[in-house]
Formats: sequence, structure tokens, C-alpha cells
Amino acid sequence: MGLNGAGPGFWTESGQLVGAVGRAMGVTLRNLFRKPVTVQYPDVQRPYPDRFRGLLALVYEKDTGEEACIGCRLCEYVCPPQVIKVEMLKAEKRNYAKTFTLELYACEFCELCVQVCPTDAIVMMKSFDLAAADRRDLLLDKDRLHALGLSFEPSWATGNRLRDMQAPPKPARTAAKADAKGEAKEPAA
Ligand code: SF4
Ligand code: SF4
Repeated sequence: MGLNGAGPGFWTESGQLVGAVGRAMGVTLRNLFRKPVTVQYPDVQRPYPDRFRGLLALVYEKDTGEEACIGCRLCEYVCPPQVIKVEMLKAEKRNYAKTFTLELYACEFCELCVQVCPTDAIVMMKSFDLAAADRRDLLLDKDRLHALGLSFEPSWATGNRLRDMQAPPKPARTAAKADAKGEAKEPAA
């Protein structure tokens, strides 16, 4: 029995507790002088990764400055939750979208609309910055979608690029066929 009736277990546990507090304070002190890894968003923004895909937007054609959307409605047909609605406006030289709405609050960000767009008119932006307190603020019409297209940097992925990526490489296919034929001709050992 030790001081004031405390047993040896008491002193062992007290020593362990003091050691643990000391180690924890050591970690705190070491981190107190480290450079912070957080940034003061939105005043400071980190660069987005090359393949980041966020908000959806409509863009203008680079050469002519005209709206790139031809109102074909492919994006509307392919969208799984059916959040896109497009009305086509027929014109003499080309067609346009008379109206274009996208309910971003129900979007799955699957990118299918981007993948099917023949004119690369709908793209994802390098931003997720569209927080809203009211769902109606996330009902995007054609003007808002174009404004988003002008406000943020578009992601690398456009419909034409994504479709090119999905096409199987022809030389590889030919080589595989040749290999298969070669194996078939080989006599059994
Ligand atoms: S990303 Fe997917 S869910 Fe969102 S609008 Fe496009 S097709 Fe629809
Ligand atoms: S955004 Fe593309 S797919 Fe959708 S209506 Fe316009 S041109 Fe067609």
C-alpha cells in the first residue's frame, strides 16, 4: 500500500496518463508551427485537376461566336433523370435551341448529355461553385447556362473527344484478328 492508501496500480495508471498527455501535447506543439494545408475559400481557390468535371453549361462557337447548341434534343432524350428540356428553333442555315432548361438540383452529373452532344455545346465546367439556399436557383435556363459557360473554364471533356476515346483502336483489332488466325493454323503438338 503506498501514499494515502493508493496501491501500485494507481501509480502505474497515473504514469501512463501523464505520458499520454505529454505525447498528445507534443503532437499539438509540432503541428502548431506547420504551414496550414487549408485555403481561405472562396477568396483563395485551388487549381482544379485537369479532368475535373463540375457544373454544366452551354457554350458559344469559338469561330463564329454563335450559340453552339442546334436544339437537336439528344441530351434531353439521353438524360436518365430527364432534367433537360429543349425546344428547337428551325432557321434557314442551322437550327437553334429556342428554350433550354436544366434542373441542376436533380442532375446526376453522369455526363451522358455531354457525351451525345454533336456540337460540343453542353460541357462541364471546372467549378462546383453554385451553392443555393433555394432549389429554384438551380433551375437553369438558356441564359444562365450560357452565363456559366462564360464564367468558368470548361473541362477537357467534350462530346467529340469522349466519343473519340470510346472508338476501339483499329490496329489493335487487326492485330488481334491476325493472332487468332495464326493460332488456329498452328498444328497440334
Ligand atoms: S449530367 Fe446526366 S443527369 Fe445531369 S443533365 Fe446531363 S445527362 Fe442529365
Ligand atoms: S446541347 Fe447538344 S445535344 Fe443538347 S440540344 Fe443542344 S446540340 Fe443537341
